[in-house]
Amino acid sequence: DPRLEAISAAIRVVPNFPKKGIMFQDITTLLLDHKAFKHTIDIFVDRYKDMQISVVAGVEARGFMFGPSIALAIGAKFVLCVNLANYQSYELEYGHDRLEMHVDAVEPLERVIIIDDLVATGGTLSAAISLMESQGAEVVECACVIGLPEVKGQHKLKGKPLYVLVEPS
Ligand code: IMP
Repeated sequence: DPRLEAISAAIRVVPNFPKKGIMFQDITTLLLDHKAFKHTIDIFVDRYKDMQISVVAGVEARGFMFGPSIALAIGAKFVLCVNLANYQSYELEYGHDRLEMHVDAVEPLERVIIIDDLVATGGTLSAAISLMESQGAEVVECACVIGLPEVKGQHKLKGKPLYVLVEPS
């Protein structure tokens, strides 16, 4: 799919950010590129439009950039999975991987896809899966724009499928 090359090219790589040795994958440049951004949304929409998905759950914060457009196009609702550590000063009390949502956002047996910008270890997506399952919802798949190949996040996703568009070169 030639669209994937355009998506890859639009993602900026920032070496040694936020610390030495990390190659940070920056999707803000993808959001600046209308064509590549639209390709990204279109690919997800094509994949999920006929899968009876009623919930698109976006992981804070960059899952919020992609999820709403997908939800609108496939006729699903958009649910925010937030990290309370971003709103509380007591980080010890609320761990970084802990995600929360409003209890009435998702109903039992609803079919959910979870979206984020990037999967590395899969810890964040696993927290989102647990959150959805705590309400009795069915997680159909996790979807990310970028998958880091060196970390096999799939094994951590509680057996749920993972769909990624690009891997960093
Ligand atoms: P994981 O929990 O180890 O899979 O890490 C994924 C989470 O960390 C996602 O919420 C990402 O937004 C964030 N993250 C980790 N590395 C990067 C990066 O290089 N670019 C953007 N986000 C990243």
